[in-house]
Amino acid sequence: MDRLANAGNTIDIIKSHNFTFQKRYGQNFLTDTHVIDKIMDAASLTKDDHVIEIGPGIGSLTQYLCEKAGHVSAIEIDRELIPILNETLKDFDNISIINEDVLKVDIGKLIKEQCMKGSTKVVANLPYYITTPIVMGLLENHVPVDSIIIMVQKEVADRMQSGPGSKDYGALSLAVGYYCRPHIVANVPPNCFIPRPKVGSSVICLDIYDDPPVKVKDEELMFRIIRAAFNQRRKTLVNSISNDVSMGISKQDVAKALEDLKLPETIRGEALTLDQFARLSERLIF
Ligand code: SAM
Repeated sequence: MDRLANAGNTIDIIKSHNFTFQKRYGQNFLTDTHVIDKIMDAASLTKDDHVIEIGPGIGSLTQYLCEKAGHVSAIEIDRELIPILNETLKDFDNISIINEDVLKVDIGKLIKEQCMKGSTKVVANLPYYITTPIVMGLLENHVPVDSIIIMVQKEVADRMQSGPGSKDYGALSLAVGYYCRPHIVANVPPNCFIPRPKVGSSVICLDIYDDPPVKVKDEELMFRIIRAAFNQRRKTLVNSISNDVSMGISKQDVAKALEDLKLPETIRGEALTLDQFARLSERLIF
């Protein structure tokens, strides 16, 4: 099959449908088959697998996904792209094109409806303006997917896999570290897209853990503590946690918990590992 993912074909399709790019939807279409090959290698799909693709665009990556997976559910917000997708993917009978905002789709329900033998994987060149809500929504809601292989802004990929002491370390790094094992598959320069984004990109693979690497009784409390710690990054943990009045935790409570963990009272959240946040939150359950 002729590949959509090259600059010439992408421009032809866009022109023949009088399509105009919507900046607000983060539309940067992939035009490099080598990058798609790397995404496909990382996804290692079989005909038993169900793929959720977020933002298929004109279908450049979707073509490959349909060839390898059992079923592809492609969620695209821009209704101008739907007739294009109907044409570019007309040879496949294993695709559902869903014209919705991904943040409003019940992905858990979508997975149940497909009921495939193999695993469900999210594979996407994401719209960068909503990367964090998409990823956090999948992880925090325990959506039953085995892995997430996504193109994101390079800076976000760095944040996802950084550790204490790095400027990139934050709530996203800890959430990713709690739910999955991240690894960068490829760094992708702007010239692999039409139009070219202003930032560099990376493909990152998140393999979801069966069991998180740390055990906590109250996962929600741990993440509230983590968010409070990084909302006021320059403050000490004693101040940032007690300043979030919604948790009702006093300065003395935090100071005592830190003392129990043999951590200094002046420590900031950016110095704590996931394991230390887990143990801190266990001591702050009242
Ligand atoms: N997958 C295509 C490719 O690689 O060429 C397009 C990727 S482009 C970076 C992001 C796609 O996500 C666009 O098609 C855009 O219209 C779509 N999109 C943006 N916001 C969305 C949302 N909230 N829900 C679903 N799709 C969205």
